[in-house]
Amino acid sequence: MRSITTFDIQYAHRFYGFKGEAQYLHGHTGTLTIEVEDSVNKGVNMVFPCNEIKKTAWDVIKNFDHALILRQDDPLLPAILDVYEKQGIKDGHPQNTMKGEAFDTELAKAYPDCRLVVTKETMTVEGMIKIVHELLKDKLNIVKLTFTSGDNAGSEDYTANNCIDRCPLCGIALDENGVCPKCGYKKQAT
Ligand SMILES: [Zn+2]
Ligand SMILES: [Zn+2]
Repeated sequence: MRSITTFDIQYAHRFYGFKGEAQYLHGHTGTLTIEVEDSVNKGVNMVFPCNEIKKTAWDVIKNFDHALILRQDDPLLPAILDVYEKQGIKDGHPQNTMKGEAFDTELAKAYPDCRLVVTKETMTVEGMIKIVHELLKDKLNIVKLTFTSGDNAGSEDYTANNCIDRCPLCGIALDENGVCPKCGYKKQAT
């Protein structure tokens, strides 16, 4: 069975070099849907608590929210960093507090201090799905990702191959010692 969670991300981007209006900087509210598949955990009668899927994903995905997403070769990138630098906000600001955990993968690098994500490829809905999968595939048993933004929507199906031990009392993933980080339940050695 599947557990499904959805959340919104507000971001600015552009399609650098694209022959259309999307080459101009503009913004969206994008909606990301994550579908996680596993057996039903008998203790709690859930695959996985949706609020926990959201929490795990949001720790990383928060980097895209109220952020600017630019391709690594976009000439706007040095120009914007120069403005942020002169304004004294490039390396953080006391009011910039909703920051995600920084990441650096093959497809994208997050700079939470200046709310910027630099991507290898153009950040289309397809590009976002690739980035999100790369960031979360080892943390969640993802079988489908859907991303919609304006008139654009994309989805991709995956084969889940992780084996995640879950707490029979609260349903969340046990840590590497077989202990529930929420309630302290310990998996009995079999
Ligand atoms: Zn757009
Ligand atoms: Zn627990």
